[in-house]
Amino acid sequence: ALRASGVELSFGATPALRGADLTIATGEIVAVMGPSGSGKSTLLHCLAGILVPDAGQILVDGQRIDTLSETRRSELRRDRFGFVFQFGQLVPELTAAENVALPLLLGGVRRKPALQQAREWFDRLGLEGLHGRRSGELSGGQAQRVALARALVGGPQVLFADEPTGALDSITGEQVMELLVSLARDRGTTVVLVTHEARVAAYADREVIVRDGRVTSFDTQEAAA
Ligand code: ATP
Ligand code: MG
Repeated sequence: ALRASGVELSFGATPALRGADLTIATGEIVAVMGPSGSGKSTLLHCLAGILVPDAGQILVDGQRIDTLSETRRSELRRDRFGFVFQFGQLVPELTAAENVALPLLLGGVRRKPALQQAREWFDRLGLEGLHGRRSGELSGGQAQRVALARALVGGPQVLFADEPTGALDSITGEQVMELLVSLARDRGTTVVLVTHEARVAAYADREVIVRDGRVTSFDTQEAAA
């Protein structure tokens, strides 16, 4: 399980999180919603060990990660987490397949098997034929799916995705969500995603709302009622 407890974080004088509490079960799909600027991205960054809270705790399977060294946190991210950032993160000069293979290459996998593994994700994400394209020459929606492939290629236990369908048309967005649901069901992948779209959130087991740096939580059944 993943847990944020009493998490506070400010950027200078701007408080982003003001006592955020959230527990996510293994294999659960949670949609994080809420107004712009409410702290959703910051919460994801804290849960994933990218940012360290000013106060409170982040626990992964009962172990605090906010007290780990930067080195140990980056090892944890590499070994167990995949992250899709809200804003572009691909290396534009590399091909799409090289971008997806990057985490494997950095983890010591050889170039050929890494690229092979990377290419397997292209069909699953509707990116047929695009593996050799320079990332800087992809459309926004294509780049978004390449970023998702990169987050998934290492077989993460937890996928964090900050608005992974924001640049996609509704049919492609639904295909992406169906893929994430199947990863959660078949592999027990935990999925924490930020979305502004109710239709995307409907794929989650539970919706949580972030408001003014705090989390309120209810499941999608209640939300539909
Ligand atoms: P959006 O839906 O627009 O992506 P969000 O809910 O993800 O919004 P955050 O990005 O978590 O919001 O931002 C929370 C607050 O922290 C906002 O007031 C924002 O301006 C501020 N903030 C976020 N990142 C930084 C930063 N790097 N430096 C300074 N302030 C920041
Ligand atoms: Mg955000």
